[in-house]
Amino acid sequence: MAKTIGIVTSGGDAPGMNAAIRAVTRVSHAKGFQVIGFERGWDGLLTNSFRRLTPRSVGGIIQLGGTILHTLRCPGFEEKGAIEKGAETLSTHGVDSLVVIGGDGSFRGALELSRKSSALMIGIPATIDNDVYGTDETIGFDTAVNTAVGTIDKIRDTAISHERIFLVEVMGRKRGFLALEVGICVGAEVILIPEKPMSLADIVRLMEESAKKGKRAGIIVAAEGCGNTSKLALEMQQQTESEVRLSILGYAQRGGGPTARSRLLASLFAEKAVDLICQGKGSMAVGLQKGEITGYDLDKAAKDKKPIDLRLLQVADMLAT
Ligand code: ADP
Repeated sequence: MAKTIGIVTSGGDAPGMNAAIRAVTRVSHAKGFQVIGFERGWDGLLTNSFRRLTPRSVGGIIQLGGTILHTLRCPGFEEKGAIEKGAETLSTHGVDSLVVIGGDGSFRGALELSRKSSALMIGIPATIDNDVYGTDETIGFDTAVNTAVGTIDKIRDTAISHERIFLVEVMGRKRGFLALEVGICVGAEVILIPEKPMSLADIVRLMEESAKKGKRAGIIVAAEGCGNTSKLALEMQQQTESEVRLSILGYAQRGGGPTARSRLLASLFAEKAVDLICQGKGSMAVGLQKGEITGYDLDKAAKDKKPIDLRLLQVADMLAT
């Protein structure tokens, strides 16, 4: 009997999720499998909301941001009986493998589901935060970096013309991967990330050093998890001679068409996911490790903390001299 593969996109959306849906569908179809897409994240399994996916129905979406299946943070999936209901939905459709496209939270949901369902669970990491353990990069990260860099380049024009400091808040409630990479790429004077908190006094000192070097404008990139940036901008203005403005990039970073790199990663991760299914392997995530697409333990992807390379902060410091 032909296999039936389920796909769910869950958690925060990320550019490239559609490219992953398309690739999982087409590779599965090429192997003779049927594909079902569950709608609105885990909620689709609770409400039996789904659509059949075919190579034609996923045409023309590789370049689209967001996810055609929609996504949701679904606290209901953590409530009593929800996992059993999800497992029952999979069984009703004869789904023997489920591909979960999302972040570590979505993978934790998949792990719980794997305890009640015989379907093989495969996680494809997709989040602009790049915070999934075991993969050097997640789908959508490169797009978000490029979006933020493009916007900050524009902000820098005003910073230079008006000789101002701009504090730019980028996404990253818990982790600073996006802020760190964006900060280096825009030549930020200071980068603030949750993993290495900096005091107001230290930030002011760095700005004063920058001013002494003859810099009359500057960019400070802060991950949103570093605290209240409105307050910080005000305090910085009060404690320095500079005019300080705040710009919060917000949701623009999550949307937009995926870059070529995000599309490529999505396509290759998807192919690997279906390959693992063909080998009968479940409870695995796919990831990029030192340039290679690989499969690894879903439990680690869901629960372990991805290390951040703090040395990059020193590199950024040197580059800002
Ligand atoms: P992301 O996948 O982007 O990290 P979230 O952390 O919001 O996003 O997780 C997405 C969803 O995964 C949650 O809304 C919830 O439905 C589900 N989930 C997370 N942890 C669990 C869990 N322990 N049991 C069941 N579902 C979970």
